Amino acid sequence: MANPLFDRLFGKHAGTSRVFLHLADGQTITYAAFLRMAAQYAGALTKFGLRPGDRLAVQIAKSPQALAVYAACAQAGVIFLPLNTAYTADEVSYFVENSGARLVLCDQAKQAAMVPVTTACSAELATLNADGSGTFADVAADMPDSFATVDRSLDDLAAFLYTSGTTGRSKGAMLTQGNLLSNAQTLVTEWQFTEDDVLLHALPIFHTHGLFVASNITLLAGGQMIFLPTFNIDQIIENLPKSTALMGVPTFYTRLLGDKRFTKELVAHMRLFVSGSAPLLADTHVQFEQLTGLRILERYGMTETNMNTSNPYSGERRAGTVGFPLPGVELKITDSRTGETLPQGEIGEIEVRGPNVFKGYWQMPEKTAEELREDGFFITGDLGQIDEDGYVHIVGRNKDLIISGGYNIYPKEIEQMLDEEENVLESAVIGVPHPDFGETVVAILVPAPTGQPDVEAIKANIARSLARFKHPQRIIIMPELPRNTMGKVQKKALRDQFQGLFT
Ligand code: ATP
Ligand code: MG
Repeated sequence: MANPLFDRLFGKHAGTSRVFLHLADGQTITYAAFLRMAAQYAGALTKFGLRPGDRLAVQIAKSPQALAVYAACAQAGVIFLPLNTAYTADEVSYFVENSGARLVLCDQAKQAAMVPVTTACSAELATLNADGSGTFADVAADMPDSFATVDRSLDDLAAFLYTSGTTGRSKGAMLTQGNLLSNAQTLVTEWQFTEDDVLLHALPIFHTHGLFVASNITLLAGGQMIFLPTFNIDQIIENLPKSTALMGVPTFYTRLLGDKRFTKELVAHMRLFVSGSAPLLADTHVQFEQLTGLRILERYGMTETNMNTSNPYSGERRAGTVGFPLPGVELKITDSRTGETLPQGEIGEIEVRGPNVFKGYWQMPEKTAEELREDGFFITGDLGQIDEDGYVHIVGRNKDLIISGGYNIYPKEIEQMLDEEENVLESAVIGVPHPDFGETVVAILVPAPTGQPDVEAIKANIARSLARFKHPQRIIIMPELPRNTMGKVQKKALRDQFQGLFT
């Protein structure tokens, strides 16, 4: 028997003295040392009474130790459930209760707030701090540095990953070993990762992007990571010369482009810049290429499926698109009402099927039935279209679609126009309740550092270019858009804020 996820990502590196992680303070951790730590953690999990199939919820700062907890779960057959470090104890209580986690790991600073949560759910609580100390680490310190890997199959659950909660309450996506491994294998091949790669890792590791995309790929390829706690522009600039690849959310790239130290020379040796988790503005893509001569590779994925599409590694990376379905992933555009596949070029619901697609939402059979078809296609909730060359374009989320007076309005079309206007840094277009039209269009603009947008001129431009039903009924200036940690614009928060404008 075997444990495919652990064996392929971690086990094969046991005893290897090559460096796996470079830390911000210059310290390095070899694969061998990392795996010894993971084995001790696996021992500690067993000591805390966790059995294969049990859930471990962790809300701890990004650190090599936090990553070793993931490895330990894989080795012990425990289901790994990482949580956003920004969640309050109240929010965590939903995840602990919902998942039935048997043990919760948190930072010592949060312990007092977490005690009532774990007590109410009859879960155990232990601490693991960013410096590697804590009650969990104390138990682990007495464990042997090897652990008999628990047998698992590709169909066994490896993680519950909760969605970002952009459109509503977070849902726990049940991911199997096979889901994770198949996607990592595909991406290593597609993006040509090898053991010579050094990935600059500045994403959180409670989310699919930093955890599964970035870390799994590096582990599978046997490469190295420069493992930074957060996106700190000084640290990024300092470490780019030592890296071969960077994975980021779009804000990484806009911030780099806004820094004078980010030059062509600084990144001339880099082989890959990947962007995802939120739409990369075509403008950012173009500016990046003008400055560096390199094209950002944009891809599209989500918690429930890992990655679905990617722009090509070799071949044209097209700005404003997320490229082609990955090998093994089927993607179709369907009519939201009938589920029928639409003709090429039309906008509809993006559905995907493949070995990467999750097993369903934990303890949400109705939600699962709504979104996961019996034939295996997952209804992503994103709207898109496929152009004549096969590139997939994301138009927006189904839930952000505005229906005004019976007309469908896609916010992105209006946002793209607003973003082009003078002194507009970025924009968000939302639908708010309206007594006559059901919903109507409201635009929020963020001024560029160069000055204030001229709202009257913008209205006039829009009136010239867009049909009347698409005209924003109100244009609001805000200093910035509400974003979550993954850089996603929180349109729901904006809708809540402005829902009373016309009622
Ligand atoms: P929830 O499902 O709880 O509302 P969420 O969908 O934001 O939250 P994630 O799974 O983290 O949670 O994000 C996946 C979503 O991110 C996709 O469905 C898509 O809307 C968006 N996304 C990811 N990559 C891209 C991209 N390259 N371009 C546009 N959107 C993207
Ligand atoms: Mg989602």
